[in-house]
Amino acid sequence: MGRFCEPMCRICRREGAKLFLKGERCYTPKCAFERRTYPPGQHGQARRRKISDYGAQLREKQKLRHTYRLSERQFHRIFEQASKMKGVTGEAFLTLLERRLDNIVFRLGLASSRNQARIQVSHGHFQVNGRWVNIPSYLVKAGDVISIAPKSRQKPAIQHALSMGRPVPAWLQWDPDSFSGRVINLPSRGEIDTQVAEQLVVEYYSR
Ligand code: SF4
Repeated sequence: MGRFCEPMCRICRREGAKLFLKGERCYTPKCAFERRTYPPGQHGQARRRKISDYGAQLREKQKLRHTYRLSERQFHRIFEQASKMKGVTGEAFLTLLERRLDNIVFRLGLASSRNQARIQVSHGHFQVNGRWVNIPSYLVKAGDVISIAPKSRQKPAIQHALSMGRPVPAWLQWDPDSFSGRVINLPSRGEIDTQVAEQLVVEYYSR
């Protein structure tokens, strides 16, 4: 995991947005971005210089990549996949990112962060349509049912994440009685609450 050695709050401050990388702390007044909205570093409070078009595209790309906690190689590979799909590339890209199993686990409120979701998926705590899946990049489809494996239902980390009561997006449905969630439909752009100008990311990779 050497690729993510930078402190997470520092990433949020540099990208100028709350990326919710740290779990529970992100939802409390202890969030570093709430307390210090300026960029990190010695000159962080100095007035920002005008940013070039390339700089804006790069920052947006980095913001999105960090949000989903992906390496450049993984991120670019997903973009290539999206660019071959029908429709608007930026939207297809976001939909592919949202369809990852680690993201679904996070969105269902079963992990407090995408990092934690990835670890839990790779430890085999979840099933898709009744079959164990331990691949965080697994892409779910509309109608898939994601459930907590029977032996993992009382895991403290999962129970703690559920107790945070984060809202589940409208395109997903969580049923606490069966410890499972369903993908009602794949999300449209309006249903994805990731604050990013995806067109700038498309422009970055289309240079
Ligand atoms: Fe970002 Fe705030 Fe969470 Fe730190 S606590 S990772 S600054 S959202």
